[in-house]
Amino acid sequence: MATEYDLVILGGGTGGYVAGIRASQLGLKVAIVEKGKLGGTCLHKGCIPSKALLRSAEVFATAKKGEEFGVIAKEVALDFTKVQERKSKIIDQLHKGIQHLMKQGKIDVYEGMGRILGPSIFSPMPGTISVEMNNGEDNQMLIPKNVIVATGSRPRTLPGLEIDGEFVLSSDEVLELEKLPDSIIIVGGGVIGIEWASMMADFGVEVTVLEYADRIIPTEDHEVSKEMQRLMKKKGVKIVTSAKVLPETLQKDQGVTIAAEHKGEKKEFKADQLLVSVGRQANVEGIGIENTEIQVEKGFITVNKHYQTKESHIYAIGDVIGGLQLAHVASHEGIAAVEHIAGEEVEPIDPSLVSKCIYSNPEAASVGYTEQEAKEKGYKVKTGKFSFKAIGKALVFGEADGFVKLIMDEETEDLLGVHMIGPHVTDMISEAGLARVLDATPWEIGKTIHPHPTLSEAIGEAALAVQGKAIHS
Ligand SMILES: Cc1cc2nc3c(=O)[nH]c(=O)nc-3n(C[C@H](O)[C@H](O)[C@H](O)COP(=O)(O)OP(=O)(O)OC[C@H]3O[C@@H](n4cnc5c(N)ncnc54)[C@H](O)[C@@H]3O)c2cc1C
Repeated sequence: MATEYDLVILGGGTGGYVAGIRASQLGLKVAIVEKGKLGGTCLHKGCIPSKALLRSAEVFATAKKGEEFGVIAKEVALDFTKVQERKSKIIDQLHKGIQHLMKQGKIDVYEGMGRILGPSIFSPMPGTISVEMNNGEDNQMLIPKNVIVATGSRPRTLPGLEIDGEFVLSSDEVLELEKLPDSIIIVGGGVIGIEWASMMADFGVEVTVLEYADRIIPTEDHEVSKEMQRLMKKKGVKIVTSAKVLPETLQKDQGVTIAAEHKGEKKEFKADQLLVSVGRQANVEGIGIENTEIQVEKGFITVNKHYQTKESHIYAIGDVIGGLQLAHVASHEGIAAVEHIAGEEVEPIDPSLVSKCIYSNPEAASVGYTEQEAKEKGYKVKTGKFSFKAIGKALVFGEADGFVKLIMDEETEDLLGVHMIGPHVTDMISEAGLARVLDATPWEIGKTIHPHPTLSEAIGEAALAVQGKAIHS
């Protein structure tokens, strides 16, 4: 059977389903093809499950130090089955929510594997989508005016570190653990690696992080990396930077043993399991790209500023195009692509306005340039930094580690970047994001009266610190 659409979206992850809703709002006849579950990586294997587990780990760690707050909880114990059940319940609830939104928006959802066909009897242009239905029914043919490819990504591994689901895990398998290991090696100290390191340490697992770069979370500001390393070490995480893991040395028996080259020496590491978190690979295979003029560079689909591929009626968004592989980026790219399809004036997304978060305990968040990036771009930089140690609410929370750092262009007084590490900073970064969007200066942020006692006072104080006027330092 063949059905015509204004738009067919390949992949119902965060990017795809949000694009579908926006298309429906704009009156387009739209379908989503999803081979797995609506919500994609973020809902089922990424943002939400990992944050649900992180929250359980945080509650466990907090309960263990209840005495600090005068709360004596005897025999604090972990029921990991319940931890996993809680995670699944949250996912189910959100999954149902997306299914409801699809019905509400009259978006047709085809459960199956979609593939782009070349010119055919259905259309002289490439873009007809053939769907191999999950339920075994005959293939469906969808004939769209436009297509959005939103097929996302999957975990990458290193040759020799093949994922076996028992000893060597990716972020997919580690989420489904039925039992926590006593010890784990995490290869890769980026965002996902550090979130897992923090969570596992809070659950009481012995953690070793092996990072190739000379610092963990290497895309963040140097000072944030340094503070994160200090705080992870404080909670018992062993971190080895400048460590080149040697996959050929991997041995699996009762647990795993692997060697890494570190400062010219070969060192051996042992643990029950090993988590590989070395980035994500775009899902560009098996989707019919070869039937089109779409270009793939370094594994990612190439697009212009409106997310059009070489085939101007076929767009691509989200993890499959690389760049900032974040859920909120995927959804905003989806919205931008749909609005462009609908003929609206669309402003391209500026990556320097995108907030990035790390949900470890403590959290980290940033928007704009790091101090190093700003200097490399030739700015004369002035910074202001304020510690959570002088913030009443942070002391009340019992979480006074970390700081807020603002970076300003000395010449124009423009705000170039904001970097935070500490309690609840992932919820605080949006103030900085708004400031960047509105081109606010640190002076204007300092002028904003931040209520007392709140953690956000650290932003106000850091803004004043840029001008040498912080009150509590
Ligand atoms: C452990 C982990 C934690 C993360 N935490 C965060 C976080 O806290 N915050 C954040 O912003 N981001 C986070 N991310 C990243 C985030 O999950 C991704 O950036 C986001 O999911 C990308 O959305 P997407 O729509 O591009 O792709 P995806 O969410 O990967 O969705 C793609 C969908 O396409 C489907 N698909 C693929 N091929 C086909 C086909 N041929 N036919 C039909 N369907 C197909 C897939 O089944 C999938 O559902 C995390 C990722 C991981 C792995």
